[in-house]
Amino acid sequence: MEEQKPAYLVISEALANHAEWKQALDSVTVALRSFLLFDNMALYLGQDGQINRTDVVYARATGRGKSAEADIDWGQEIAQAVFHKDELIIKTPDATTPRDQRISFPYFLGLPLKSSQGIIGALVFVRFGGPTYTSRHINDARYLATLFGCMFERRMLEQQIVTLEESRRQADLQEDFIATISHELRTPLGFIKGYSTTLLRPDAEWDAETRKEFLTIIDEEADHLAGLIDHMLESARLQSKTLLMNFQPVRIDALLRDATMRSQTRYKDLTVILENETQVIPLVMADSVRLTQVLLNFFSNAVKYAPGSPIYLRVRLFENFLRIEFRDEGPGIAAQHLPHIFNKFYRVPGYGASGSGLGLFICRLIILAHRGQLAVQSMLGQGTTFLIDLPLSQSS
Ligand code: ADP
Repeated sequence: MEEQKPAYLVISEALANHAEWKQALDSVTVALRSFLLFDNMALYLGQDGQINRTDVVYARATGRGKSAEADIDWGQEIAQAVFHKDELIIKTPDATTPRDQRISFPYFLGLPLKSSQGIIGALVFVRFGGPTYTSRHINDARYLATLFGCMFERRMLEQQIVTLEESRRQADLQEDFIATISHELRTPLGFIKGYSTTLLRPDAEWDAETRKEFLTIIDEEADHLAGLIDHMLESARLQSKTLLMNFQPVRIDALLRDATMRSQTRYKDLTVILENETQVIPLVMADSVRLTQVLLNFFSNAVKYAPGSPIYLRVRLFENFLRIEFRDEGPGIAAQHLPHIFNKFYRVPGYGASGSGLGLFICRLIILAHRGQLAVQSMLGQGTTFLIDLPLSQSS
């Protein structure tokens, strides 16, 4: 027959083996019954030299103290004193206390919880109506308090690791971002510098046509640079939520017509087919300027990446949202790129068109700010559809 494990072994193994500290304490409480007699036990973690009611991190009652379990105030005063003095405290009822009710006759034992840095909290036991704590009980309780202290120290270290890992991740992201930004900014700047230096060479003469060609490149690259900077500022503002949105009831059909007209003025050969000319479309709470910006971005992408294709625009109504579908019949986007298409600076390699890879990233932030969703569907050789889902307000 297997010999029963001594309680101290069960307790120390539970604390060492459970990754989750509350589960560990639950196992400990079960094993404690044969180890140390108590009605209630509570663990407090203090801060700034204080223990408050909210600092109870764990409390358990056995049979006799069940009624007092919900009320964790019972150990508060002792815990506060232990934490303040950084020493073990035993408090027994004085002789004048009426002994008719056990609950009003508590024997307290409070012990400091320590980490290697010093006191971090208190462990408090109560026995209603006694018996008094013997030196063996006190030593057992000290043993427990030491184990609990180690357990909480481990938990604090684990939390510190999580925080440090998060800040390292942030720093890595920042570094990536700076590296990508400087790379993106350097490309147009390189063109501007190269062509202007060439034009300024004292040992060369340029005919009017070449000069114009070089100046056109410089002009275009300067525009590209300005566009990049605008995009970066805007995405930074959208991400830090400092860009205020102006939500108002918006007629989506009118907004689609307006964006279409603006794009057709800009891109003379663009064919746009609006598929909902007759349908009544409910009002949507939206920032019309930002939503138009999203559509204009889709139009300019379609011109760049699906040249010559007509654009189909459709609105579909669902129970609690409205979907705008923006479809082209261009070359499409390969499946492996689709999950990344809304990521910052992501561009599908192989297209000649210039861009920053920030357009769709910004579009997504704008739609998210509307509590909506932006998605893409695409098949190589068949075309691409962007789907904007916007919530319909209850009233509309
Ligand atoms: P940019 O156009 O500045 O590169 P975007 O974020 O607007 O950046 O777009 C990201 C990438 O998505 C583009 O580089 C392009 O590869 C791809 N893309 C966007 N729209 C389309 C489209 N309609 N058809 C095919 N590919 C597209």
